[in-house]
Amino acid sequence: MSDCIFCKIAAGEIPSNKVYEDDKILVFHDLEPQAPVHILMIPKKHITSTDDVTDADAELLGYMLTKVKDVAKEAGMDNGYRVVINCGEDGFQTVKHLHMHILGKRPMKWPPG
Ligand code: C5P
Repeated sequence: MSDCIFCKIAAGEIPSNKVYEDDKILVFHDLEPQAPVHILMIPKKHITSTDDVTDADAELLGYMLTKVKDVAKEAGMDNGYRVVINCGEDGFQTVKHLHMHILGKRPMKWPPG
């Protein structure tokens, strides 16, 4: 999508602090970290939110989950971490391109705010 900031980051049109990249996904540090380590994982394919996921995306989303532990290990999150996907207004989704937050290096609390 031409007006999507994460599509532009995925295309290399906007720079990011990259952690990992392959043909399907891009992983980069969040610009406004909410934990000592706060990483975003995005599919290169534009999917607006979890509300827009279709059966055709099942393999891609499964693939993303298989990569989480690698990213967490590489970032030194040996004592656990949190994976978050916000959706829609009540979910406080601000960027309309599906992404996983991977947060760690501090104890998390529950319930989330
Ligand atoms: O889940 P939500 O849509 O609220 O999260 C978007 C995230 O993308 C925020 O944590 C924000 O800091 C991050 N962001 C970024 N680089 C941008 C724009 C947003 O890291 N250029």
